[in-house]
Amino acid sequence: AQLDTLDIVVLAVILLGTAAYFTKGKVWGITKDPYASSFANANGGAKSGKTRNIVEKMEESGKNCVIFYGSQTGTAEDYASRLAKEGKSRFGLETMVADLEEYDYENLDSFPEDKVAMFVLATYGEGEPTDNAVDFYEFITADEPSFSNSNDPPLGNLTYVAFGLGNNTYEHYNSMVRNVDKALEKFGAHRVGEAGEGDDGAGTMEEDFLAWKDPMWAALAEKMGLEEREAVYEPIFGIVERDNLTKDSPEVYLGEPNKMHLEGTAKGPFNAHNPYIAPIAESKELFNVKDRNCLHLEVDISGSNLTYQTGDHIAVWPTNPGQEVDEMLDILDLKDKQDTVISVKALEPTAKVPFPTPTTYDAIIRYHLEICAPVSRQFLGTLAAFAPDENIKAEMVKLGSDKDYFHDKISKNHYNISRTLSVVSNGQKWANIPFSAFIEGLNKLQPRYYSISSSSLVQPKKISITAVVENQLIPGRSDAFKGVATNYLLALKQKQNGEPNPEAFGLTYELTGPRNKYDGIHVPVHVRHSNFKLPSDPTKPIILVGPGTGVAPMRGFVQERARLAESGETVGKTILFFGCRKRSEDFLYESEWGEYKKALGDKFELVTAFSREGAKKVYVQHRLKERAQEINELLQQKAYIYVCGDAANMAREVNTVLGQIIAEQRGVPESKGEEIVKNMRAANQYQEDVW
Ligand code: FAD
Repeated sequence: AQLDTLDIVVLAVILLGTAAYFTKGKVWGITKDPYASSFANANGGAKSGKTRNIVEKMEESGKNCVIFYGSQTGTAEDYASRLAKEGKSRFGLETMVADLEEYDYENLDSFPEDKVAMFVLATYGEGEPTDNAVDFYEFITADEPSFSNSNDPPLGNLTYVAFGLGNNTYEHYNSMVRNVDKALEKFGAHRVGEAGEGDDGAGTMEEDFLAWKDPMWAALAEKMGLEEREAVYEPIFGIVERDNLTKDSPEVYLGEPNKMHLEGTAKGPFNAHNPYIAPIAESKELFNVKDRNCLHLEVDISGSNLTYQTGDHIAVWPTNPGQEVDEMLDILDLKDKQDTVISVKALEPTAKVPFPTPTTYDAIIRYHLEICAPVSRQFLGTLAAFAPDENIKAEMVKLGSDKDYFHDKISKNHYNISRTLSVVSNGQKWANIPFSAFIEGLNKLQPRYYSISSSSLVQPKKISITAVVENQLIPGRSDAFKGVATNYLLALKQKQNGEPNPEAFGLTYELTGPRNKYDGIHVPVHVRHSNFKLPSDPTKPIILVGPGTGVAPMRGFVQERARLAESGETVGKTILFFGCRKRSEDFLYESEWGEYKKALGDKFELVTAFSREGAKKVYVQHRLKERAQEINELLQQKAYIYVCGDAANMAREVNTVLGQIIAEQRGVPESKGEEIVKNMRAANQYQEDVW
C-alpha cells in the first residue's frame, strides 16, 4: 500500500519520538548541554568545536595521564578528580579528567605506550552504565568495536588502571568495571594493579577506594618509572576577588545554575544541566505520627516542555540549609566576605569549574557544594597542611592516615566538613585553607531522584513525589542527622501551608532562591527516563511489591490501570503488596486505594503487612509467601513483577522468596527457582526500582 504525505509525516513523528525516548534524548543533543556551554562561556573557558579526540587532546595539552569517569551521582567524578590531583602532586604526572561522554573511543588504539588511561566507573541500577558512559560501554563491549587502525591486538599499546563503584545488594555488582576490564583485556590492553571495586552496599566505598589506590600507585610508579615526591597542594582553580562587582551586579551568579537562568530567559530542554524552576501546586504530610514525616508534593510542569511517563524519576535540586552555610563560612573565617564577588578560573586547560562565575562565596557554599555529606579521610590529609597550629595539624594527619581513628572520631558522629574542622580545631578558625581546595575536594551538590508517584495518563502535567524526610538520631549525640533535599522540601511544604515555622526541624533555607527567583513555592527539577515500565499490554497481570516509599511508582501504576479500566479497557489482575510500621501511622495513601478498587473491582487487590502491630514482625516478603500458589499461577500467566524501595534488605529478600515460591510450587530444586527468577529479570518480566 502507498503511504500518502500525511501518513509519512505521522510515521516520521512517531519514529523520531520513539528514537528520542529510547536514546534518552541524545539524538536531540539534550544531554549535550546548554549548561556547559553557557557556563564555559561565562568562564571564558572552552572554545566551541573542541576536540572529541582524546589522543589529540592529551597531546596538545601536554598530558600523560587521563582519568575517564562514568558517574551518575558525582562520586565517580569526585574520585577521578582526586586521582588526577594525587597523580600530579605525588608523582608529577600530567593528569586530566575526562567525562566519557565528551570523547570518541575509536582511536583508543592509537593511545601512546608511554601514557596511562584510568577508568573510574560506577554501575547504575540493574548493572547499567551511567548515562554519560552508555556510548563508551556499548562501543567497548561490542564483539568487534570499530577501532580506527588495524593493530593486532587493537589495544596492545594501552596501559590502564580501573576502579568500579557498585553496590553488592544489587544483582549485577560492579558489572560496569568488570565488563569494561574484561573487554580492555580482551583487546590486548595492559592493566596495572587490580581492578578495584568499591561497595556502597557495605558502606565501605571510600575505604575500598583508599585501599585500592595505594598499591595501584606503587605498581604504576614502577611501570612508568615515576618518582614519588613530597605532595604539596597545587590548586587546580584560581580564585580572583572582583572588587568592581557586588552581589547586586547583574552578571554575578547568586546560585542560578546557568546563564539562561541568570538572564531570566531559561527555557527547555530542561535536563541534568538545566533545571526547570517548577511551581509546587500542592504539598501535604502523609504520616500521622509526630516525629516522622513523609511528603506528598505535586510539581506543576505545565509551564515547561517537560514530559514524563509513568515509572520515570524526577530530580530535585536542593539548597543547603542556612545554618550549615553559616557554619562553613564561620569556620573558614569567611563571614565578612560572604558576599564578596569572586571569579573562579581553571588553572589547567582540561579542568572545568563546576559552577558558573563570577559568583560569591555564599552562593558556592549554598547552591553548589555538598557541604553536609560525610567527609573523606583523604581530604582531611590534604587540609592538614593548612591547620591553624602544629597540634591541629598533627591531629589532621592522624585522622587522614588512621582508618579506625577516623571512624571513631568523625564517621561515627556523622560529622560533615565544617563540623569536623571545628571539632578538630576546637573552634579555632581555619583561615589559611585556599578556597579552591573545597571546590576540588567536595562533591558538587547533587540533585536527588524520586520515583514519580503519579500516572502520566491521569496527570500529564503534574508530577507527584512521595518522599520520606531523612531525620535520623545519631547514637551518642543529642541532635539528629538531617538529609539535605528532603528537609528542604519539608520547609517548602511548611511555608506553602502557612505552618508556624517554615523550617525543617530547626533548619532554615533560602527558600526564595537566588534573586527571589524561586519565590511563590518553586523547586528546581528535571525528569529522568527510567526503564521501570508497565507492560504495554494492560491485560497482563502485574504483581507490585512496594513497602514504604517504595509504593511511589506503584501508586502511579495503579492510578494508570484504574484510569484505563474507567475508560472501558480490559485490565489484568493488579496485586499490590504494601508494608509499613502501623496502619494508624504510616499507611501511605490509605484513603486512595478504595477509589482505585472502585474502578478496578476484583482486578485490584491490596495486601498489607504492618511490621509493628503484632508480636511478630510481618513484612511484604512474608505476605508473598502466604500467597505462594496465587503468585506462581500469575507468573505462569506471564505476570510482570515490580519491586521498589529498599535495596539493601527488602529487594534482596523478595528476590529470594520468589525463587523459593517457584521451586516449591513447581516442584523443582531451589537452584532452578533462582534460575527462573534470573531469566525473568533478563526478560524484563521482573523489574526493580530500588535505592
Ligand atoms: P542526604 O543528605 O542525601 O543524605 C542521605 C543519606 O546519606 C543519609 O541518610 C545518611 O545515611 C548519608 N549521609 C549524608 N550525610 C552524611 C554525613 N555527614 N555523615 C554520615 N552519613 C551521611 N526517596 C524517597 O523518599 N522516595 C522516592 O520515591 C525515592 N525514589 C528514588 C529513586 C531513585 C532512582 C533513587 C536513586 C533514590 C530515590 N530516593 C527516594 C532516595 C532519594 O533520592 C534521596 O536519597 C533521599 O530522599 C535522601 O536525600 P536527602 O538529600 O534528604 O539526604
